[in-house]
Amino acid sequence: MQWSFRIGRIGGTDVKIHLTFLALVAWWAYGAYTEGGTGAAVQAVVFLLALFTCVLLHEFGHILMARRFGVRTPDVILLPIGGLARLERMPEEPKQELLIAAAGPAVTLVIALALFGTLRLVGAPVDDASQLDPGRVGLVQQVMWVNVVLLLFNLLPIFPMDGGRMLRALLAMRLGLRRATRIAARVGQGGALLLGFWGLGFFERWGFGSNIVLVLIAAFVYFAAGAEAASVETRTAGRGLTVRDLMITQFVALPVFATLQQAVDALVAGEQREFPVVDNWGKVEGLLTRDGLIRGLSALGGGASVERAMTPGAEPLPLTLPFDEALERLGRSGLPALPVVDQAGALVGLLTRDNVTDVLLVRRAGIQFPPRAG
Ligand SMILES: [Zn+2]
Repeated sequence: MQWSFRIGRIGGTDVKIHLTFLALVAWWAYGAYTEGGTGAAVQAVVFLLALFTCVLLHEFGHILMARRFGVRTPDVILLPIGGLARLERMPEEPKQELLIAAAGPAVTLVIALALFGTLRLVGAPVDDASQLDPGRVGLVQQVMWVNVVLLLFNLLPIFPMDGGRMLRALLAMRLGLRRATRIAARVGQGGALLLGFWGLGFFERWGFGSNIVLVLIAAFVYFAAGAEAASVETRTAGRGLTVRDLMITQFVALPVFATLQQAVDALVAGEQREFPVVDNWGKVEGLLTRDGLIRGLSALGGGASVERAMTPGAEPLPLTLPFDEALERLGRSGLPALPVVDQAGALVGLLTRDNVTDVLLVRRAGIQFPPRAG
């Protein structure tokens, strides 16, 4: 995600902070400072750090449970609205998704109970907000209550929050992933709209005051639910397909010693936009994209070799790679296309983004693809 930077690494997972989260800390501290001076500002920051730790523990609940099912998590990002652990892939088994989604709120519940127990042990009040102590006990009280709110909020059946994921997993056990996601996304978007109206003050007369943060969360949730539904549609539409079914087999490959002028000729001659670049033995050396070609032309001139303008090290895809993995690698490469090689390493095709979109459109329209043989 843009605007985020790494602050550390725990057990193979990068912990990142989004800049807006830091902005929130600064804003909060400044607000406390103007009201209560330096002491209040320090206390506000300490409170946020404690909250930050709780959110991180919650996320590691998800991460450790995911790891039990062999799903790795490259990073976790802390945003003002909470944490976001990025799973390398979604588990296919609904039961696994259910457990992964439930593990975070379970951690939050344990934290809240532990703080509650501690407050009880020292005889501090826990139930009356008006008795909030401004000192150290007050901080523990605050953190406990925030965890309670966090827990309830996360358990709302609003996709893609934990409660929504749990709902999707429960539905998927009976209805399959695709229908379950559609329903869960719709419930989530409906819930997001309600949250948004609440935030805008539509329910003020029933005691639900307006709150701009709620509006922001609602907007985020609404779009995230739509994005998740779309991604599941894509993945399920491509189920059972491999790279072999999707790739282009009629294409031009350029030798490393070809000139950029020759590449321009090839570009103009057909519809191909990306060209695999191969060495004398047919091994893929890189990919020349249209943008790379244009940049190379203006910087090096038409006489330069394509080798100098190509993107080197475009990792070729094996023919038999399943669709969803190919899509992921294509996304990770940042390239508009990737070469496809057979078992012997010979270049046999090209998988482009346009290709993928076309095939999915055809499939979603309910047309048999690839065409049945015979
Ligand atoms: Zn969570």
